[in-house]
Formats: sequence, structure tokens, C-alpha cells
Amino acid sequence: MDVNKVKAEIIEYSKEIGIDKIGFTTADPFIELKNRLIRQQELGYQSGFEEPDIEKRVTPTLLLEGANSIISIALAYPSKMANRVESKKGDRRGIYARASWGMDYHVVLKDRLKKLENFILSKMPDALIKSMVDTGELSDRAVAVRAGIGWSGKNCAVITPEFGSYVYIGEMITNIPFEPDQPIEDQCGSCTKCLEACPTGALVQGGQINAQHCISFLTQTKGLIPDEFRNKIGNRIYGCDSCQTACPHNKGKNFHFHEELEPDPETVKPKLIPLLKLSNREFKTRFGYLAGSWRGKRPIQRNAIIALAHFKDRSAVPELADILEKEASPVVRGTAAWALGKIGGEQAFKVLIKAREHEKDQDVKNEIQKALHFFQP
Ligand code: SF4
Ligand code: SF4
Repeated sequence: MDVNKVKAEIIEYSKEIGIDKIGFTTADPFIELKNRLIRQQELGYQSGFEEPDIEKRVTPTLLLEGANSIISIALAYPSKMANRVESKKGDRRGIYARASWGMDYHVVLKDRLKKLENFILSKMPDALIKSMVDTGELSDRAVAVRAGIGWSGKNCAVITPEFGSYVYIGEMITNIPFEPDQPIEDQCGSCTKCLEACPTGALVQGGQINAQHCISFLTQTKGLIPDEFRNKIGNRIYGCDSCQTACPHNKGKNFHFHEELEPDPETVKPKLIPLLKLSNREFKTRFGYLAGSWRGKRPIQRNAIIALAHFKDRSAVPELADILEKEASPVVRGTAAWALGKIGGEQAFKVLIKAREHEKDQDVKNEIQKALHFFQP
């Protein structure tokens, strides 16, 4: 079997099944990545969501015996909604980051990878293949960069010349010795726009990110958001796009190639107050198909409360009062207390005083106390 011929056929087939870019690299260890991961670990910059075993993250042969190559794929996603939300004055809305618009990209990429796997197996029935997207051991970014999909920007995204960084990436390790493609030259140059645009200074030393300071990561945690970041989250209820929208290579990049990835404006830019009232079932029905729902309803509700505080939306006070009285989660109750302090006004003050009397959880009590301080002249 002529491997080069199969590679050409795979490239051709990838276009037929809606893969926007494909690249090939070797299964050699990712040495530079290893050093970076060790440094990140030492500095405490990790998110905690990643595979803990660094060796597995950088050594493809540990993941597939006889690994010889890795195929990286990219799908472009839209950066602008085709339809806008119809907003009335006073409607306060949250926003999901673009990487959570449309159907969960893990599902979409896995579908493309599966089709590609079947195609390869139809040509080479003995091929060994292992596919992964995001939650796999390998770094999607490191693979994509080495496979020539794009370069690694100072904003830590893979930037493709064709689609900017608005791409989802996934990969498959194979035992077939495909000819590797050449990486693309880094085109960031002296630009620092993403570093300047980051609200929390989470991008450090160009190309490194301190996940503990990154809003994208913080919106996905389950606990109370540290105080110093609450005022910087704005109305982001999942993820953060600031370092991508600031990038000149994303200017004018807005591709609507895939029906599944089209956002429903009412879903990805939802009204905030109704979010606070959703049952688990309602949340699942309405938002369950988004990538941004992977942590469940409560982190989104916590973030929606922070967004209401950002807007100082007094019409949210009755709802926040209800949360302080009835909500089971101390994180949501505590965030509601803080938000009432930020929103201010006599009604919010009374709610906090009442909650102080019956609240038992120490963290929530602290939040109530903090919130009451906002009322002091
Ligand atoms: S996602 Fe937002 S918070 Fe995180 S590095 Fe980019 S701009 Fe900063
Ligand atoms: S904003 Fe500038 S420095 Fe940041 S990723 Fe884009 S080109 Fe690179």
C-alpha cells in the first residue's frame, strides 16, 4: 500500500466530510511541550482539568502502541451570529463564549474523526487508530502546531491563516508512517494586543497562560469565584473571548460552514434573570447540547448572578432574595449575597440583614458580611 497515495486520499475525503483543515505530523515526543508543562506545574498555572501525567501528554507511543503519526483536524466556527437577539430595553443578557456556540464541538469533531477512521480502515484494515478531542491526553494545540494547522499565538490559541483562531481541533494517532507536514511560521511578531486585552493579566510571558487567573477557566469552576476576579467577569456566563477578538488575525474571520455549529442567539445570549429560575431538567433541555454546559447548571447560575451585579440590575433583587432563602448551593447563595451588596439599594440591604439571621453556612455568612460592608458610607 502506497502511504503517500492514502494520505492524498485522506486529504480529499476530509473535505467531503466537512473538515476544514488537516495536517500530519510524526508521533515523536513533544519535548518542548514537556518543558513548558513542567514550568506551568511549578508556577501553579494549571487549570486542574488537564491529564495529570505529563509523560502521557507528551508521548504518543504511550497512548497507542506502534504509533507512527498523528493527524490533526480543524473545523472553523462562526465568530458572529447570523441572527441577532431581539432585545427590549432593560433586558440584561449573559454571553457564552464562541467556542460554546452551536452543538458541543466534542460531539461534532468526534463525528468527523469517526468518519475519517472508517475511511482509513477501509483502505488499511490493519491500521491502529486512537482519536481524541480536548479531553484526551495529548495537547490538541501542540499537535496542531506541529502538523502545520496554525501557529501558537501569544493568546495560547492555534491561529490558522485561513480561519484565524476560530477553529476547533482534534486529532488521531495512527500506526501508519504518513509523511509529516511542515509547521507554519509564528506570525505574532511584536504584537501584544491579546495581552493588553486580557482583563485579568492571565497571559504571561507571551504564550503562557495562568489558568487560575483566566476568566475562561474561572467561569468553569464550581466554587466561589475569588473576589479579585468577580468585577472583571462582566456578563460572561461561560468562557471569555477577549484575547481572540483582539487578535488582528481574527479580523473579518467569520465562517458558517457547519449547520451544527450555528448558534441560537436566545440560547448563547440568554436573559439573565430567567436563568436563575431554571430547574435541572429545564437547563438540560435548553442548554444541555452546548459545550458550555459540561459543568452543569450551577456554575452558569453563579456567573449569571455575577453578571447581574455587573449591570447593577435592581430588578433582580427579588430573585436574589429568593435564592438566599431557598437555594441549596452555598456557592450560589454566597454569590447572590455579594451581588446584592454590589447592586445596593434599600431592598437589597433588608434582604441581606434578614439572611444574616438565618444563614448557617460560614462561607455564605462571610459573603453576607462582605456585602453589608458595601453599604457603609
Ligand atoms: S480567555 Fe479572557 S481571561 Fe483568559 S487569557 Fe484570554 S482574555 Fe484573558
Ligand atoms: S493578538 Fe497579536 S500577539 Fe496576540 S495572538 Fe494575535 S497576533 Fe499574536
